Amino acid sequence: ENKDQKFVYDFTEGNKDLKDLLGGKGANLAEMTNLGLPVPPGFTITTEACKVYLDSGEEPAALRDEVSAHLDALEQGMGKKLGQADNPLLVSVRSGAKFSMPGMMDTVLNIGLSDVSVEGLAKQAGDERFAWDSYRRLIQMFGKTVLGVDGELFEDALEAAKDAKKVSVDTDLDAADWKKLVKQFKKIVKGETGRDFPQDPREQMDLAVRAVFDSWNTDRAKLYRRQERIPGDLGTAVNVCSMVFGNLGPDSGTGVAFTRDPASGHQGVYGDYLQNAQGEDVVAGIRNTVPLAELESIDKKSYDQLMQIMETLETHYKDLCDIEFTIERGQLWMLQTRVGKRTAGAAFRIATQLVDQGLIDEAEALQRVTGAQLAQLMFPRFDESAKVEKIGRGIAASPGAAVGKAVFDSYTAVKWSRSGEKVILIRRETNPDDLDGMIAAEGILTSRGGKTSHAAVVARGMGKTCVCGAEELEVDTKRRRMTVNGTVVEEGDVVSIDGSTGKVYLGEVPVVPSPVVEYFEGRMHAGADDADELVAAVHRIMAYADRVRRLRVRANADNAEDALRARRFGAQGIGLCRTEHMFLGERREMVEKLILADTDDERETALEALLPLQKKDFVELFEAMDGLPVTVRLLDPPLHEFLPDITELSVRVALAEARKDANENDLRLLQAVHRLHEQNPMLGLRGVRLGLVIPGLFTMQVRAIAEAAAERKNAKGDPRAEIMIPLVGTVQELEIVREEAEQVIAEVEARTGIELKLALGTMIELPRAALTAGQIAEAAEFFSFGTNDLTQTVWGFSRDDVEASFFTAYLEKGIFGVSPFETIDKDGVGSLVRNAVAAGRATRPDLKLGVCGEHGGDPESVHFFHEVGLDYVSCSPFRIPVARLEAGRAAA
Ligand code: PEP
Ligand code: MG
Repeated sequence: ENKDQKFVYDFTEGNKDLKDLLGGKGANLAEMTNLGLPVPPGFTITTEACKVYLDSGEEPAALRDEVSAHLDALEQGMGKKLGQADNPLLVSVRSGAKFSMPGMMDTVLNIGLSDVSVEGLAKQAGDERFAWDSYRRLIQMFGKTVLGVDGELFEDALEAAKDAKKVSVDTDLDAADWKKLVKQFKKIVKGETGRDFPQDPREQMDLAVRAVFDSWNTDRAKLYRRQERIPGDLGTAVNVCSMVFGNLGPDSGTGVAFTRDPASGHQGVYGDYLQNAQGEDVVAGIRNTVPLAELESIDKKSYDQLMQIMETLETHYKDLCDIEFTIERGQLWMLQTRVGKRTAGAAFRIATQLVDQGLIDEAEALQRVTGAQLAQLMFPRFDESAKVEKIGRGIAASPGAAVGKAVFDSYTAVKWSRSGEKVILIRRETNPDDLDGMIAAEGILTSRGGKTSHAAVVARGMGKTCVCGAEELEVDTKRRRMTVNGTVVEEGDVVSIDGSTGKVYLGEVPVVPSPVVEYFEGRMHAGADDADELVAAVHRIMAYADRVRRLRVRANADNAEDALRARRFGAQGIGLCRTEHMFLGERREMVEKLILADTDDERETALEALLPLQKKDFVELFEAMDGLPVTVRLLDPPLHEFLPDITELSVRVALAEARKDANENDLRLLQAVHRLHEQNPMLGLRGVRLGLVIPGLFTMQVRAIAEAAAERKNAKGDPRAEIMIPLVGTVQELEIVREEAEQVIAEVEARTGIELKLALGTMIELPRAALTAGQIAEAAEFFSFGTNDLTQTVWGFSRDDVEASFFTAYLEKGIFGVSPFETIDKDGVGSLVRNAVAAGRATRPDLKLGVCGEHGGDPESVHFFHEVGLDYVSCSPFRIPVARLEAGRAAA
């Protein structure tokens, strides 16, 4: 804590670039204030203050006086004093972290109300009912979030009051009813906490600030951060803002708006408005709202002003903004704005629309989309021609096609999904407690709430399919079922929901590929206009990315079909052809023969049988990738993958022996299986080691490659094969294989009279290889980082086992935010890669460098590989567009 540190900023002092310090909400409130927009005055307590509190358990010493100074200024500006008896200033205390965490943290409204100031508010507003309603809201919110009272107790008391009066909605309660409820609420607080509801307004405020700090570390906030990969140590800012009221009668109200449609990107009037209500009512999706366009007929002046402000904001932020606003007796107030979340499709469209409007350039457009969004657009969608039973329709809140068993509570969603079931979580509305259920579900369906309800906002953020506000659904959580126009759907019945149209179906609807995939496949069809528009936007963004990216993108593919698809998707070669994939299926027996061979003769016969098959594979592959590099990796399987399971075979032989009809071959096989059985097959006889112990194996493969290349050249093709040696740990291994390979290649060249120019290189996938990369580069023309094995060996994690065993615990404890097998561990594995790049290039300046582990198609990892200076990444065909895009974003 440094002496001169400033912990409180007035809204007039901040700006939108101070999100680290003021949080997103605070920074944008400041920005709007400085744009001259109508923002209720207030100040922001910084994330630094929160961090001090979270670290030490106490607010920074200077905070109290600083808050007092800012509160004084606020009071002077407003001409009222916090909680003053006759003319009280009331404030809201709102959380606001750097990254939006919708509904995850706490907010308390109406701070400053007490037994005395409630009378002042009644006079000030000329509305006694309103004042007492506001007071009970304070006690309820404060009781629940600050004092930890079970919220149900307040809800129950409220329900009882309504029942007693035989009314169904809050608005039917009058001043006397609220007065009575305030008394009851205070009794609840006293009974539950042993203390009176605090009457001192400053004490209310300080306790609320502290509660907001604390809410950074609630379980649901932590879970959300892990999901969204938000660091856990950022802390939240706290905004103290003078209250304005949307619940002062029909000329008041509250709403949310988008400057353009967050689902399609189209410009227009999008949002929801709720007359005579406070902001929390809209976000919670509890009461049904009207479309924003209706505000025009309710309050034309405020509507026009809002439209103008929205235009100002869009031009200023140069992006889609979402907004929360309140109208207090005909006066419009802006309560929040931020660059709004959007669907994946809208992200692409908006980025190109903004380029066309001249608001942003192409490099900026690339930053407005992500590889994850592109991946989402490549998901399949429902087949519209399928015979389906549509049972209802709601609002298309987050696109995608989801099929699963109906469940009606989050607990079941989590339980069933853990046991491998696909589920659709169906709720009346969701709230932050449903988060883990939403994560577990394929899709989310609600019967209430609009596009800005909790379910919609959170699902969009997660990229999960969501249909909300399907009003004809009667969701009965207690009986675990819903009724839709007479159809009963029980827990466990399969339903399908379409987040792009809002339609809900009974049963499993078949899915068809996305238009974006059709486009990449070159089968762009003249379908719905909507799809054409999306495809056009994707096409343009991909063109920007391809223009600026430095990394080349190759595919991991082992057959002509995958290679051709990869090529259509933009692959610039094959970075990894795993030849072991060519030996599975029917050919396994031939490999078995090779492994069982006792004599040179037997071995040679086995190899001779394999050679023509291998050659044919390569001819097809080189043809599919004509003119582009194809890296063929010599055999790298743990041998047990080719042999029968040791237990099964033992049982079979034992049974046969008992029957006295054991066959000779099985006995030999069993011996071999015993001989080759390994405790750690992934660290055993595989890769180059196999090539060194089974004479003739690698040379057979090299011969097949060389002959295939020669054949393609004869056919006037342009094969560009590269031979890659796996699992090398020392340059000596590589030198031996290299010499043998060169001999074979020379032989084939001499026999055919064709110069083949086959490059020889190695994988760098063991720590020792990375550590001695300088030496290894003496014998290698290229390196390809095998980050799967490198991660396994650097961490000591068995790649086949650990993700299922203890990774969940590691993720929960925050040891890492994402599996290192998915996103490269920059500090550990990444640092070996970085050093190996430098050492390899020092030995051989024109060394070609790539990566072919799973990380090659992971967005964050692609940025890392760009940064360390690799020449290419190689990934599975479907991830090629994502890698192209991310390589472009990394370079732009
Ligand atoms: C690797 O280890 O990263 C790699 C690409 O090889 P494989 O996954 O086949 O072991
Ligand atoms: Mg490997």
